[in-house]
Amino acid sequence: MSLSKHIQRMRDELDALEIALDDRPPPDVAGSTPRVFTRDEIGLKPVKGKPAPLSVGSMVHISGGKPPSEKMPAFRILRTMQNYHIEVKGWRDVGYNWAVCNRGHVYTLRGDGVRGAHAKGYNPTHMSVVWLGGNKHKRYRDVKPSALAFVALAWLLDGHDSKLGGAADMLGHREKSTKSCPGDEIFAWLQEHRAKRAAA
Ligand SMILES: [Zn+2]
Repeated sequence: MSLSKHIQRMRDELDALEIALDDRPPPDVAGSTPRVFTRDEIGLKPVKGKPAPLSVGSMVHISGGKPPSEKMPAFRILRTMQNYHIEVKGWRDVGYNWAVCNRGHVYTLRGDGVRGAHAKGYNPTHMSVVWLGGNKHKRYRDVKPSALAFVALAWLLDGHDSKLGGAADMLGHREKSTKSCPGDEIFAWLQEHRAKRAAA
């Protein structure tokens, strides 16, 4: 078997594994620890990241792409995103540090302590997380961020904030750009989440 066929088969097996894991009862308790997939599990190309402190806070994004499905699992979406960001955008790696999906999973992209490519002026200072969804096609536009996606988002944002000693930035992309990103639902949730944390 050729190497590329072998790699493709391994990736298909990994995609199947993700689907099997998705069949487990999801963690539906706020504050629970989500399943975190590594870059190797996703099948991302290995890339040497540029270290960055990400010490000012975090920023939330929406992919605007199709939401993951059995036909197009998150692993495959993320590998396509990585190829697009490297080959078309000319970036070093997939742009974001993390991704979350509606099954409440967390996907390691650039990961911790690595400079992202997600918002001009914020890449060395802000950890970035992207929700997979938001495609405007009529087949997908009713797929809104799920409660589990928000549990995963909160886990990432609060974890990063704790590392920074609390009271760090927790921004939606639209607060620093004219874009609508991360969409009305996620932005409303983010404002509520920040208010709850400030009151706690
Ligand atoms: Zn954005």
